[in-house]
Amino acid sequence: MTQRIYYSEPYRRAFDAKVLAVDEVAGHSHVTLDQTAFYPTSGGQPFDTGTLGGAAVTDVIEREDGAIAHVISGALRVGDVVTGEIDWLRRFDHMQQHTGQHVLSAAFDRLFGVRTESFHMGQLSSTIDLAREVTANEVAKAEDDANRIVWEDHAVAMGMRKESARTGTLRLIDVQDYDLSACGGTHVERTGAIGMIAIGNVEKFKGGSRVEFLCGGRALERFRVWKGALSAIQKYLSVPPIEMAASIERMQEDAKASQRTLRSFQEKLAAQEALALVARAAGKTLIAEAIEGWDAQGIKSIAVAAAAAQPNLVVALFTATTPAQVVIARGAKSTVDAGALLKQLAAKFGGKGGGKPDLAQGGGFAAPVAELIGAVNGSRG
Ligand SMILES: [Zn+2]
Repeated sequence: MTQRIYYSEPYRRAFDAKVLAVDEVAGHSHVTLDQTAFYPTSGGQPFDTGTLGGAAVTDVIEREDGAIAHVISGALRVGDVVTGEIDWLRRFDHMQQHTGQHVLSAAFDRLFGVRTESFHMGQLSSTIDLAREVTANEVAKAEDDANRIVWEDHAVAMGMRKESARTGTLRLIDVQDYDLSACGGTHVERTGAIGMIAIGNVEKFKGGSRVEFLCGGRALERFRVWKGALSAIQKYLSVPPIEMAASIERMQEDAKASQRTLRSFQEKLAAQEALALVARAAGKTLIAEAIEGWDAQGIKSIAVAAAAAQPNLVVALFTATTPAQVVIARGAKSTVDAGALLKQLAAKFGGKGGGKPDLAQGGGFAAPVAELIGAVNGSRG
C-alpha cells in the first residue's frame, strides 16, 4: 500500500519518499514508493506528470494490490529516498475540471432531476452524459446555477464513509450546501477556485445528452481560441461577430445565384462547343479531346450534346486540369461501351470512376492528358 498524499494534502506539489520496489517493464522502471502525491489514472481523472528523483514521470498506474506505480526512464534503487515533484499546472487543471463536474452535475440534478451517467475528462474539454435529453433552456439554467455556486465560493470537503467489508471505505466529496457524491479524484478546496464553468457543445447521446464543459483555465483558453478565430473571420466579413452568421448566409445565397447564372451560360456555350466538336469529328466515330476552360460538369454537357447530335459518335472529353477528369458519352447508334472504356483507363492510369454503356465519368488519372487521349484513340485500334 502506498500512502496517498493527494488525499491527505491535495495541494502538495513536492514530497520526499522511500523507494519500496523497482520493476522493469517494457524498458521502463515502475517505481513504488511508501507515499506519493502523484495521482494515478482513475475515476475519469488522468494521471499526474512531473519528476521523481529528477526523472520524468510518464505514467502513474494504480495497481490491483493497492500500490501506485510511477513509470520513469531513470534508474532508482530500492531504499533510495527521492524527491517527487508534480506538474502543478496540469494537476490544478484536473482539480478545476473535476470539482466543476460535481457542481455542474449537481445543478442538472437539483434543477431538473437529471442524473449524470458518466464523466470523461479529455485533453481540451470534458463531458458528462445525462440520463435524458436536455433543452437549450435547461442547459442555460444549469450553467447559471453552477456558476452561482462557483461565485458564492462554497467549501469543498472530502470525507470518508465506512461501507461493508466487501466494498471498504467510500470517499465522499462534499460541496457545501449543494452536493455530496462518492468520488476518488482530487478537488479544489473552495468552489471559487473553479473560476468558471462554461458549457460547450450539447449533443444527443444514447437517449440522453452529452454535455461538453470547460472549467477555469480551459474556459479562458477556449475563449482565446474563439476570439482569434472570430478576429480572423472579421477581416473577411467586416461585420461584428453578432452579424457574422447572417453575413455568411447572404454570401452563400449570392454564390448560389451566381452559380445558377454561370450554369445557364455554360449550357448555352456547351451546345455551341458540341456542334464545333461534331464538325471536327468530320464523320469519324470516335473523338477524344481535352477542352480548355471547362470543369467536369461543363465537359459532360458538351459530350452529351455532341453524342446526341451525332448518333454513331463516341466522345471522350478531358478537362485540361491535373489530374484530368473525363466524361465519355456515346450516341444512340454506337455500340461502344463508355463504362467499359472508362474502366480500361482507370486500370491503366490508376484513376477512378464509373458509369453505364452510354455515359461514364471519372478522374484522378496519373498521366498527362495527351497520353490519356492516346490511350482512348488506341482502344479502337
Ligand atoms: Zn470528484
